[in-house]
Amino acid sequence: MILPPAIIGVLGGGQLGRMFTMEAKRMGYRVWTLDPEPDSPCGQIADGQIEAPFDDVEAVLKLAEKCAILTYEFENVNVTSVEAIEQSGKIVSPSSRVLKITQNRLLEKEFLRDHQIPVTDFWKIETLKDIEIAGKEIGFPSVLKTTSGGYDGKGQIVIQTQKEAEEAFQVLEKISEGKRLVWEKYVPFVKELGIICSRNRAGEAITFPIAENTHKENILHLSLVPARIGGKVEERLNEIARIIAESLQIVGTFCVETFLLEDGSVIVNEIAPRVHNCGHYTLDACLTSQFEQHLRAICDLPLGSTQLLSPVAMVSLLGEGKGNELAGVEAALQDPNVKLHLYGKKVAKAKRKMGHLTAVADTVEEAVERALTAHQKLRWR
Ligand code: ADP
Ligand code: MG
Repeated sequence: MILPPAIIGVLGGGQLGRMFTMEAKRMGYRVWTLDPEPDSPCGQIADGQIEAPFDDVEAVLKLAEKCAILTYEFENVNVTSVEAIEQSGKIVSPSSRVLKITQNRLLEKEFLRDHQIPVTDFWKIETLKDIEIAGKEIGFPSVLKTTSGGYDGKGQIVIQTQKEAEEAFQVLEKISEGKRLVWEKYVPFVKELGIICSRNRAGEAITFPIAENTHKENILHLSLVPARIGGKVEERLNEIARIIAESLQIVGTFCVETFLLEDGSVIVNEIAPRVHNCGHYTLDACLTSQFEQHLRAICDLPLGSTQLLSPVAMVSLLGEGKGNELAGVEAALQDPNVKLHLYGKKVAKAKRKMGHLTAVADTVEEAVERALTAHQKLRWR
């Protein structure tokens, strides 16, 4: 068991690491992070930051030396770096194996399929010839994606025709630097649902209430909890999360992003081997947040209650590329049920996740209304 004031190492210095660090420090732990960006969102809160790229094995091992245990908050961290830490005798949770599978869309889909978990039809793409075959085998509409490195909708293009598929191939082939692409059948979902689950080394796994997610331009816009779904769907998602937790032997918190179909069946979109945007609501509306639960899981502490204390809605606050000063904070906070979270990023580039708002209320509909109303009052200038 790793007890406070042990030092925890976080690969990645973004907002997920920042919120994790806040919770870890509340519980008396110390945190060091590694990120190439100076004064990163996590580095601002942590006890220290090593400023280095993720593939700098020497720097990564320097971080590991300081820490009792390590984790990552960003799934595009180099697997070789995580393996190097493991070889040095330190534990990284989740393991390099989990990272390797979940950071590669093809390996991930193959893994899910092998464990009888439904995924959309897909095809491995290496050449233009594969594009021709996939067009015939899978058809349209579809989505062409890079196998790794993508996030917030980066590295994917929706394709409606063979010609569009060929054009998308040319674009994505450049981004992916010769790595494989994956062709996915477009899923005509009625809802997107996210379930967060934490598993500790003893094999205990606990899920959080399911979030109903809406994306705008492939970036999470709104999460509301409890999701408006039936008991059967809820059971199925819980079952899927447990199968994934067990079969990957995940230690830590992860998220399963899913599509709900008209007939009530569920298809897994992807697994994030880390805390997730759609679990930010847990900070303000659950007894234990996803960040605290991750800490408990990796430190071998007993897991906390994930009980939902109130219906809640979370809306992402994105940069607009217009200015870096946030106006309207006072107006947004006129609603006493609204909470503001800002990640400490200096430049509000268009579509960059700068923060989020949560609102709690007696009903989930009212929570959404309150969160969106507050969100409309905020502007970058
Ligand atoms: P990211 O790593 O950027 O989160 P995702 O694969 O989750 O990538 O895609 C982002 C969003 O794009 C999804 O949440 C969903 O709204 C949409 N999307 C992606 N793939 C598909 C698909 N095969 N069918 C329907 N929508 C999709
Ligand atoms: Mg996603």
